[in-house]
This record gives sequence, C-alpha cells and structure tokens, in this order.
Amino acid sequence: MTLSAASVRELRPFLEAPRVLITSHVRPDPDAIGSVLALREAVMQSGGQPTCVLEDECPVRCKVLPGAAEIQVARECAEMAPFETVIVVDSGNRERIGDTERFVGKAAKIANIDHHISNTRFGELVLLDCDASASGEVLYEIFVELGLRITPSVATNLLAGILTDTGRFRHSNTSPTTLRVAAELAEAGASLTQLTEQLYFSIPAKDLVSTSQILSSLEFFDDGQISTMFVPRDYAVEDPDNLIDLGRAIEGVEVAVLFSEMKDNRIRVSMRSKSRVNVSEIAERFGGGGHERAAGFRMYGTMETVQQRLIPVLSEVLRAR
Ligand code: 5GP
Ligand code: MN
Repeated sequence: MTLSAASVRELRPFLEAPRVLITSHVRPDPDAIGSVLALREAVMQSGGQPTCVLEDECPVRCKVLPGAAEIQVARECAEMAPFETVIVVDSGNRERIGDTERFVGKAAKIANIDHHISNTRFGELVLLDCDASASGEVLYEIFVELGLRITPSVATNLLAGILTDTGRFRHSNTSPTTLRVAAELAEAGASLTQLTEQLYFSIPAKDLVSTSQILSSLEFFDDGQISTMFVPRDYAVEDPDNLIDLGRAIEGVEVAVLFSEMKDNRIRVSMRSKSRVNVSEIAERFGGGGHERAAGFRMYGTMETVQQRLIPVLSEVLRAR
C-alpha cells in the first residue's frame, strides 16, 4: 500500500504553518526520534516553525541522531500557548503522546503519520501505510512526493527508524521497497555502518550484566511455543529489543514475551511472534496495539500476575491455529 498523492499534498499546510508541534509516542524509540527530527527539517524547508516535544527523554543511544538536542521533554517545557497545528508520527493512538497533550490546542488540526496496523485513525489528516516497515519509510515516500530535500541528516534520521524497526532488515516487515528506500537513503548520505555502530555496538557494559540476569528468568509454556522473560526495574536495559529477539529466536518458540517493571507500578508487556500469531490483535484486547509480529500493552500488577493473565489467552490463540 502506498499513500495517495492527493492525501500527501494535504500535509503541505501543516508543514508551512507558523507554529507546528511535532510529537510521537511515550518511551520513544529510534523510529519515533528519527521521524520527529526528519519532520522538523521538512517544516523548516517549507517555511514553517517547528517545536518538537515528547513525553519522555531521548534514549541515550538516540542522542547521536542529527538534531536530537532540539527535542524537548514535556514536563521540562516552559509554558507556551497551545498549538493549533500538530503532527503526530509513529503513534498508533492519540493517548500515546502522553503529557505532550497539554500543548495541543482544543481545536488543533492534527496530521497522523504512521505505520501501525492498530492505528485508531485519529486526526484531520491520516497518512497511514501499514505495509511500511517504519514511520521512516512512510516519511521517505512523503519527502519524495512533496519534493522535499533528503539531506544527509534527514537520510540518517529516516534510516535509523527503518534499521531498528526491521531489526536490522531481518523481520518480516522488510519488503523489497524497504530495501530500495534504504539504498536511496544511503545514497543521500546516511551511513549504515555508522548507525549500526551507534545504535547496536555501543551497549553499556552494565546492560550485559543485566541481560545475564534477565536470561536466567526464561520460562516456557505450551510445549515451548511461548517463551517469557522478566525485566525487574533494577535490571532495565537501554534496548530491550535484543532480549526479546533472543526469546523469539529459540527453536520451537512462536511467541516471545518480555514483562518489564515500569516506574508507575505498571508492567510493560512486549510481544513478538514468528509467523502464525497476530500479536497486535492480542495487545488490543489488553488496551495496547502494534503490528502483526511486534506489539505491546501496559497493565497494573506484578510481572507474575500479568503473566498469569496473558498466558491462557496466548495458549488459546495458539490452539486455534
Ligand atoms: P515494543 O514491544 O517494542 O514496546 O513495541 C512493539 C510495537 O508495539 C511498537 O510498534 C509499539 O509502538 C507497539 N506498542 C507497544 N506498547 C504499546 C501500547 O501500550 N499501546 C499501543 N497502542 N502500542 C504499543
Ligand atoms: Mn515505528
């Protein structure tokens, strides 16, 4: 699926507005950060004035992305008038922008640019491409359609999202188009080697120690079709994707689940499936969302009680296949 040229052109007034708020989801990942930063340049190229705000701080490994220092954290922002023009990127629903909501005007026009199958289609303009591997891939399409310049920094930010959302071009969301877009971005000045070095080969040593603890919590259910791991707050790691990918890589596992303790006594549940289970549908039953092969939700409880609620649901879905 590609976006219609007519709908992409409707984004122009959003990029040209004198005050534009650009935001994304809580706990931003490289696709969220890279997409916000690429949009920031799109607005500047179009003559608008961008302000980038996220609920949470930029993760350490994303601070190297060009322009990352321009992103503000909602709770640290000085008071400012609400924005009437807002672009939300990489967020399947409006609630996922969290605290940034307080800067969105009551009658604000919202453009929703995304690739999540669970997207609730909020906003006045919805540019949703569920076949795109990352919001970075959707934005590439938009840049080309609108004739915006793909500078080396735009290319780097877009490729960062594509690289990480595809698990380095290994997940099933890596399409021939994804690879072509990545090649175009490399040609436009993004360095795959440098991004890989920055985003994957700079793991804090303490995270490896935590990883060994987390791996020792590995449990199996349904004859080894489900694997689970617990991430207590003390052992939180910068990039949990590596862990859940290991849980899924085990022979015979169809669904891997990671339960992580959050600061607010909720448990963050991350799910990945190999080929049969639509984990987005399961996450939606618990108020979350995502993609067919990668999804999540949050729930109050302990890691054990949340595990006890989820496993029967997963077992039933597996039995029905
Ligand atoms: P992760 O497991 O890496 O946190 O998330 C996997 C995918 O599911 C991501 O695309 C993410 O946006 C989505 N996702 C994770 N948690 C939630 C949630 O609580 N709500 C929604 N709507 N999507 C989520
Ligand atoms: Mn994404």
